[in-house]
Amino acid sequence: MASDKKISWITSMLESKEMTDDIRSWAIDRTYADPSGVIDSLRYLPRKDAPKKRVFEPGIYYVTGTIYKVQLSQTTARSYAKKLDTSGEWLYDPKYISEIPEGAAKPTFEEMFAFGFTYDICGNCGRLLSDPDSVHAKIGPVCARKLYGLTPKQLRLRADEMYDRLSQPEENPEHAGMWRRDDAGNLVSLLS
Ligand SMILES: [Zn+2]
Repeated sequence: MASDKKISWITSMLESKEMTDDIRSWAIDRTYADPSGVIDSLRYLPRKDAPKKRVFEPGIYYVTGTIYKVQLSQTTARSYAKKLDTSGEWLYDPKYISEIPEGAAKPTFEEMFAFGFTYDICGNCGRLLSDPDSVHAKIGPVCARKLYGLTPKQLRLRADEMYDRLSQPEENPEHAGMWRRDDAGNLVSLLS
């Protein structure tokens, strides 16, 4: 290819491709010395108008009562999500990642507690809550340390706090999810 053609190709890629300032300066510096090398480096960069892939940090997400686990595929480097079934199984479907809204956050301790409370499984790993400490805290001690940095003692205290809140629903409307209305419209604690 004639050199001027290469240079106009580079010029159009500098316009249309997404790149850092460093790459841009490097390409401009090298354009006349090594146009083929610059083309090889720029041609695989994404276009500025390419649809942006949603990037989620791997981890646990809580979306209206459902727990998702986002992982990074080793082969495609794209994130995908699994959903925690209420029996503790991680289900996979390619569409799950799109069910997590933009800006979704990792679950709060309260959300994890409510989830464990409802399903008797740890919302981080899906294991059945079986030993007394886990049954009390509604999340396994190892997972609580991993997610929230809580020691077993701190975990016990946080859980105690949650049981206190459960006994006072009207003062803590944000925890309404841990209550249900009975047929008469009265709040009934999930504890009862
Ligand atoms: Zn766990």
